Amino acid sequence: MNRMEERTVTRRTRELLKKHNLRLKRSLGQNFITEDWVLDRIVEAASLDRQTGVLEIGPGIGALTERIAEEAGWVTAIETDSRLIPVLEDQFATTGHVHIVEGDALQLDLQSIVKEHMASAERYCVVANLPYYITSPLIMRLLEGGLPLERIVIMIQKEVAERIMADPGGKDYGMLSIAVQYYAIPHWVTKVPNHVFVPRPDVDSAVIQLEVRGKPAVDVIDESLFFQVVRAAFAKRRKTLLNSISTSLPKKMSKEDVRSALEQAGIEPNRRGETCSLAEFARLTDALADFGM
Ligand code: SAM
Repeated sequence: MNRMEERTVTRRTRELLKKHNLRLKRSLGQNFITEDWVLDRIVEAASLDRQTGVLEIGPGIGALTERIAEEAGWVTAIETDSRLIPVLEDQFATTGHVHIVEGDALQLDLQSIVKEHMASAERYCVVANLPYYITSPLIMRLLEGGLPLERIVIMIQKEVAERIMADPGGKDYGMLSIAVQYYAIPHWVTKVPNHVFVPRPDVDSAVIQLEVRGKPAVDVIDESLFFQVVRAAFAKRRKTLLNSISTSLPKKMSKEDVRSALEQAGIEPNRRGETCSLAEFARLTDALADFGM
């Protein structure tokens, strides 16, 4: 993009904010995209077509919404800031395939919303420049919530993106990496510098694509035990698995039984949680279940 176009997008955003006399709220994570190339990268990564229904979280004043609407068959955008609803309704008044829903994406019944506005779509995606303060709970809600999603393309804080993408062994690998990778395959799309937003956030961002798996990455007998085991393994990162599993699980188990379960799972008891793959956590979960956990 050349400098002139860049200024045009920025000017449009600023003019809309001024026209509607809007002061952006940091508390709602309102950092609006002002450069076209960022919108392009997000929409490209979603591979949209007219058979796809898109759920957008946090449309703001509609810059990304407009770009999504050029390619998708349906767009339903959920915005919590009631001041932005008239701006969005005005902007999309003549665009029949865009619906604006007012509310909190962490609270609303997303399945009903999808059914109500986009029942005829053949596939569904979430596309969003997420408000940073709800990133992790929202991603987990989308992945665990039973929505028939094929893909999630989100812009989030760069550090959180790195945690989601992380492989075993590094400092970024943890509960969030495992929870997301259990349900989806993450792909890196692009880093986004902070100067493309108004107002400028303190941190850089990244766009990632989550390809939602047809079934979880690993089979476990007891899914809730799997997540308890992973949480316990990372509760005290410096502890060995033997220590963290025998002290941090909600239900207690003797150290000897935990040692035997680790051996049955083929995992050295003195390893740390951050070195274990999803497959190893799954084997450990099943072994702990065998030992009465
Ligand atoms: N999509 C716009 C863009 O890319 O320029 C704005 C993105 S801005 C980072 C995040 C948006 O999410 C804001 O408009 C904010 O009001 C909205 N938001 C914040 N919390 C929300 C929630 N719980 N549910 C729905 N929208 C929310």
